Amino acid sequence: MKIGCPTEIKPQEFRVGLTPNAAQEAVSHGHQVLVQKGAGIGAGFTDEDYAAAGAALIDTAEEIFASADMIVKVKEPQAVERKMLRQGQLLFTYLHLAPDPAQTHDLLESGCTAIAYETVTDDRGGLPLLAPMSEVAGRLAPQVGSWTLQKANGGRGVLMGGVPGVGPAKVVVIGGGVVGTHAAKIAAGMGADVTVLDRSLPRLRYLDDVFGGTFKNQYSSVGATAELIQQADMVIGAVLIPGAAAPMLISRAQLATMKPGAALVDVAIDQGGCFETSKATTHADPIYDVDGIMHYCVANMPGAVARTSTIALGNATMPFMLALADKGWRQACADDPHLLNGLNVHAGKLTYFAVGKALGIDV
Ligand code: NAD
Repeated sequence: MKIGCPTEIKPQEFRVGLTPNAAQEAVSHGHQVLVQKGAGIGAGFTDEDYAAAGAALIDTAEEIFASADMIVKVKEPQAVERKMLRQGQLLFTYLHLAPDPAQTHDLLESGCTAIAYETVTDDRGGLPLLAPMSEVAGRLAPQVGSWTLQKANGGRGVLMGGVPGVGPAKVVVIGGGVVGTHAAKIAAGMGADVTVLDRSLPRLRYLDDVFGGTFKNQYSSVGATAELIQQADMVIGAVLIPGAAAPMLISRAQLATMKPGAALVDVAIDQGGCFETSKATTHADPIYDVDGIMHYCVANMPGAVARTSTIALGNATMPFMLALADKGWRQACADDPHLLNGLNVHAGKLTYFAVGKALGIDV
């Protein structure tokens, strides 16, 4: 199969769909890999790295879309890319179609077969191609939060780990799923005093069993949240209610109860945010002040560490990419119901129920 990897063109996107390692694996399986010149630069991969992996370097995205059987990307295809997709071509990337009728329309019109990273599942009911980005965002949250806490950035001027004779920062993580667990681990590793709130008792039991000595956990109620945020130097929002907007867990009025210069890091901002005062920011201008509380609300946090994110995503996508290339999408999906769950569009038809429901299109 001819596998094509164009340069990502969405603003602020530095990741790339194939790492040189993934390209090498595909080549070793007998496939031809076409990578657009410069595609890996944002993630620290040179054209020479891809050439050494056995990929062909191609000048333009147009040439790649014209000849590849499968396009492997990171972000949903932009309008100009969608025009280049064709009948029978396979697209493997993040799509997030439910809130995006224009993209859905164009994909249906193209006749392509599109498998979305975000709806591929695993045996434990997880989303294996979303999890690496949650791991990255979670581990990044205390790092950006501690920067936000620095005085010059408007923060409280508190060091995460304290020093001998001075206590550590108090960090509250709301939501103990993938993001929250990774955030808590890193914050605790930095020496902070960490408490995780969650609504799921099985999850709290798991956190207690595995991390009981590293950080505390508590059942997430309105009262517990109100009490903990008064003492907090940093609050990390990491909740998710699948298929719904994030619940609002800290109101504007509650900011007045917090310590001046405390940091709110709203990782759930990509689902609307879980603090009333959250609004999406960018890596170029990530923080802002509301009533003396510093907010960090970047919606694509993994982009800040494009190299780590690209490699983490590539590790997760590679087995699926190879199965699709080796067997063709029909056989690969017939053999693996979890990959089949990724199928969103085929030959002008929507094939994913939740997207059809959200957009009012028959599936
Ligand atoms: P997850 O499903 O693994 O975990 C979410 C957790 O929130 C679950 O344990 C759930 O029980 C808990 N929860 C739900 N309601 C709660 C409440 N009221 N109080 C306390 N806990 C509650 O999800 P995840 O992968 O950890 O993702 C968390 C959020 O981070 C999502 O909104 C996701 O979209 C977002 N995210 C953002 C970025 C970014 O760049 N900003 C990157 C990755 C993920």
